[in-house]
Amino acid sequence: MNPTRTIEYDVVYGHHCSEDLLDSASNKRVLLVTDPQLWDKYGAKFASLEPQVVMTKTMESSTLEQEHAGLQPFDLTIGLGGGMAMDIAKYHAWKGDKPVYQVPTAISVDAMFSYPIALRIDGKVQYVGEMIPEKIYCDFSILQSAPPVMNRSGVCDLLSCHTALFDWKLAVARGRSQMDDALYEKTSKILQDVKDRLQEVYDVTEKGLRMLMEGFRFVAVENYRVGHCQYEEGSEHFFYYCLEAQTRKHYLHGKVINLGILLMSLLQENEVESIRSILQRAGVPIHPDSMGITYDDVRTALRSCNQYVREKGYSYSILNERQITEDFIDYALDVLRCDFDPTDQI
Ligand SMILES: [Zn+2]
Repeated sequence: MNPTRTIEYDVVYGHHCSEDLLDSASNKRVLLVTDPQLWDKYGAKFASLEPQVVMTKTMESSTLEQEHAGLQPFDLTIGLGGGMAMDIAKYHAWKGDKPVYQVPTAISVDAMFSYPIALRIDGKVQYVGEMIPEKIYCDFSILQSAPPVMNRSGVCDLLSCHTALFDWKLAVARGRSQMDDALYEKTSKILQDVKDRLQEVYDVTEKGLRMLMEGFRFVAVENYRVGHCQYEEGSEHFFYYCLEAQTRKHYLHGKVINLGILLMSLLQENEVESIRSILQRAGVPIHPDSMGITYDDVRTALRSCNQYVREKGYSYSILNERQITEDFIDYALDVLRCDFDPTDQI
């Protein structure tokens, strides 16, 4: 039997709370990972730390390895930004065996909590190590100054439980996974809370931001304990990995995951009407135009999805169970066109 693994996160909430970092990191050699736009916006705030600044480019393993080899010595890393900045800060901290502090500038994804280091190796997601952040700063002043769609995007990593729980149950029924009733119930409850309080997320209130952060914390803690993430990551994420591998583009997580939730709910025939309405109210555009791709790209991803998950060995889901047909694709794309008219959205 595996020993139970436990993990704790130090999350600080408040307006301007990330300024604590200026004290705790002073006199240390700081490596700060961000992007040019955010550095323009927040550079002055962190200037007193005189950080070595790395701009995000890609999650491709070979590029990051080269980047790491060219770094000056550092004592700690700071991830300042969205998913990619936090993932790269985590990577360099892990490689250099130093602590990482996360300062999300928007809650667009659960990367501030996710401890596995997920790199892309020739377009495939691979987990190469683990890194638990020293501290996560949920600084409302920073978060609420981001475009609202960036924070709304984060809801995808809790709404994904809608399709993931279905897939997990299916995997258990086929003898491919084990059920943990308490975890299933707790996750369902969190999912329901998010659905019931979606307006808080849409309005980017402190309550809404906290709800997302605490939901992500739950997912990460349980992932560490049970050693899988099937209650939160299922076919909707696998669809995303498939689309990403095919198009080699980087997406706002909420757009493509919410698209995956819609498409996979249709495939699962899983409370379709209710999830369609939830996804519309989430305020995250999911039509192909909004991601810089075409309906044909979505069609191609759907066509290759069944084979993709088998080849890559992702956990058992509806994509192992039900073959995607041309008729299904026509139907799914009609729903997408009808519910998510580009003219209505950001
Ligand atoms: Zn995700």
